[in-house]
Amino acid sequence: LAQRAADTGGQAAELLRAHAELVDDPELAQRASHHLRRGFSAAYSWRQATRSMMETLASLDDKRMRERAVDLRDLESQVIRVLRGELPTIERELPRDAIVLADDLMPSQLLALDATRIAGLALARGGATSHVAIIAAANAIATLVAAGPAILDVAEGTPLILDAERGWIDVDPPAAEIDAARRAALSRAEERAADLSTARHPSSTLDGVRVVVNANVGSLDEARAAVRNGAEGCGLLRTEFLFLERREAPGEDEQAAEYQRIVAALEGRIATIRTIDVGGDKPIAYMPMPREDNPALGLRGVRASLRHPGLLKTQLKALMRIEPQGHCRIMLPMVNDLGELRAVRAVAAECARELGRTALPPIGVMVETPAAALLSGQLAGEADFLSIGTNDLSQYTLAIDRAHPELAERLDALHPAVLRMIAMVAKAGRAAGKGVSVCGAMGSDVDALPILIGLGVHEISATPAMVPRLKRTVRLLDAAQCRELAMRALEQQTAAQVRELAQAARARARAGAQSIGGA
Ligand code: PEP
Ligand code: MG
Repeated sequence: LAQRAADTGGQAAELLRAHAELVDDPELAQRASHHLRRGFSAAYSWRQATRSMMETLASLDDKRMRERAVDLRDLESQVIRVLRGELPTIERELPRDAIVLADDLMPSQLLALDATRIAGLALARGGATSHVAIIAAANAIATLVAAGPAILDVAEGTPLILDAERGWIDVDPPAAEIDAARRAALSRAEERAADLSTARHPSSTLDGVRVVVNANVGSLDEARAAVRNGAEGCGLLRTEFLFLERREAPGEDEQAAEYQRIVAALEGRIATIRTIDVGGDKPIAYMPMPREDNPALGLRGVRASLRHPGLLKTQLKALMRIEPQGHCRIMLPMVNDLGELRAVRAVAAECARELGRTALPPIGVMVETPAAALLSGQLAGEADFLSIGTNDLSQYTLAIDRAHPELAERLDALHPAVLRMIAMVAKAGRAAGKGVSVCGAMGSDVDALPILIGLGVHEISATPAMVPRLKRTVRLLDAAQCRELAMRALEQQTAAQVRELAQAARARARAGAQSIGGA
């Protein structure tokens, strides 16, 4: 596992390293030895050990622990295959443009396939945020999860069309449809290539409103992807990657080195680095928390940091050591009011004194709760910038758990209630002369873009792969028309109505661009 991790990079390497760490878990070894000593075979003992650990993990009311159970299941089969003298994973020759169908797939099984030959992946089960879905996305494989058991009845070799955006699979379609799908895929690829060729240029609307398109980053690899895709900076660095899945907190030196690597990879672009947003559904061993009935409403984000000021201080000091100074700004998650910003500022001032610094880096707040949106005027008065986390802002405004499988469709940031919150924040930022950005998933949504611009949000932070397309979309828009659209959106009654309105507007903008001979 360690060797394979060293031979690859990115998510795949991280996953393999996580498996290598799991296989070293002394508790697992102890459980296996227990059965070995009773005379059972190695494979049997290993399976008993992994199964009992999986049961314990799966019973915990904690998403990350349940994900660890999936990793264990993956590891179980790899080790058993090796004990049988086989390769750790089945290797299969795939035809070109293969669509892989499976009940569920373990990350190692996907990694064992040649990603360049996979056009699509459909899983009967699985979740959108599972490891395998993340690996598929990183390899630009169109993926459909929770597609239902019927896909398993499709015979091997059957022609299929998989449309991951609309969420359907067409089984054995007529030749004309296959041709049309191939043409659509080709034109999508051409469009993407064209978008990439202009992505490094700044983007403004037709009537000259400059819109900054940054990228969200969660690892060194993603920082490189941000630059490749033409991001103007990093609008959100989620630092959790450094803190999760380990027994002790990373020290100041380790953190400083990691942040420095990411800032270097951004090649002079500004990095907006968020202090850790753990607690809640992302617990960490060295930050003990009381058991909570409602983790989403509990000790998470800045609340958890202020409860553990030692950890916060270490992180702030590491951030302040980044060179050159002025390339990094600090962002606080889950802020409700000025009390929290001031408390963090006091800790930051202490760090600066200890480091012999006279100035603090810019410190901004995320607007992720209705409280922060309602008080955005006050927050904008003292924060150096505001960034709207629409994932959480939607969750808390609509009172819909963002991880709820049945309510996922109703959790739409285009809901008029969420839009009114965003409008309020944009107005507060403008009045105070402070920048307002959107860094939740809404920032990657091309339908939402004209509405955001119309509401006065002129900076977004998106997933790196979406940056080129968003920049092109900006160049096709007219900010005055966006304002009209936004006003109408605010008056709609449901998210579905807003989405319909936005899609119609985008279709008109595209048609207009084509008629003037462009994009
Ligand atoms: C958000 O809530 O929109 C956000 C960007 O933060 P996260 O998704 O990490 O909670
Ligand atoms: Mg958030």
